[in-house]
Amino acid sequence: MRKLSGLALLTGMLGATALGAGVSLAQNPPPPDHPSVSMFGQTYTPRSVLSRNMGTEEDQTTAFTPHKIIGNIYYVGTRTLSSFLIVTPQGNILMDSTYERNVNTIEKSVEQLGFKFSDVKILLGNHAHGDHQEGDAMVKQKTGATVYVMAEDVPALRDIKPGGKEHPIDKVIHDGDTVSLGGVTLTAHLTAGHTRGCTTWTTTAQEGGRTYNVMFGCSLRAPGAVSPAIAQEFVRSFQVVKALPCDVQLGDHPAQYNMQAKFAKVKAGGPNPFIDPATCKNEAAISEAMFKAILDEQQKAGK
Ligand SMILES: [Zn+2]
Repeated sequence: MRKLSGLALLTGMLGATALGAGVSLAQNPPPPDHPSVSMFGQTYTPRSVLSRNMGTEEDQTTAFTPHKIIGNIYYVGTRTLSSFLIVTPQGNILMDSTYERNVNTIEKSVEQLGFKFSDVKILLGNHAHGDHQEGDAMVKQKTGATVYVMAEDVPALRDIKPGGKEHPIDKVIHDGDTVSLGGVTLTAHLTAGHTRGCTTWTTTAQEGGRTYNVMFGCSLRAPGAVSPAIAQEFVRSFQVVKALPCDVQLGDHPAQYNMQAKFAKVKAGGPNPFIDPATCKNEAAISEAMFKAILDEQQKAGK
């Protein structure tokens, strides 16, 4: 069990597949199926959260219908790995390249929406795991975008080198820094724990003459075993996220914000379902409850 939890920790930290582009989720030992927490009518375990986030190999690589979320913000990712396009009059911002094998799929989704991939001027990242940032070098090659990375994630990003390509790092940013292009400003909030530089981005978007706060959440999923240093980071991060203004919650995996259910409502017409301040912090609440349950379990096991 000790050995298994060590491996589970590794798997959790690496986001399951950063071990290598060819390593599938199924080949890695999944995180444990305990403890469990029940929130908002659902029961979660570390294993069920990871499986909800990642889906199948096919889910990870199949484009989800590219769509407008709100204002100038669009979804261009796969069924289970988020990638967002933020359009400005001076070029566009892409958030998360996901796996390198998905970059061409993301490019197609961008074009399907009527935009040019070559107009991506800035590439941002959510956190230094392969399922979110492995494709950075290829996006940089294809677009020449400037790549901004959170300082605390730099060491982990340097280790993500598909095909031996160096990870592009053009600008190193810190907690509270902003990135601006064409009248759009995004603020980087360090919300560490899942990785050392896990970044929650915030911005605003306009719709129907109103301004809405948009929060691109970073995963707050705790590893199978939590060290005291990582625990401290999570405690701070939960406080940070709770205090952020939010009308539209997004996340590095669409399941974190129920994208598919919301998108189904878009098709049905009516008010924009992505504007949902009441549920903006649900994912953080689930993650915090799980984090506390894992710590509890660790303490009881005398670890
Ligand atoms: Zn991750």
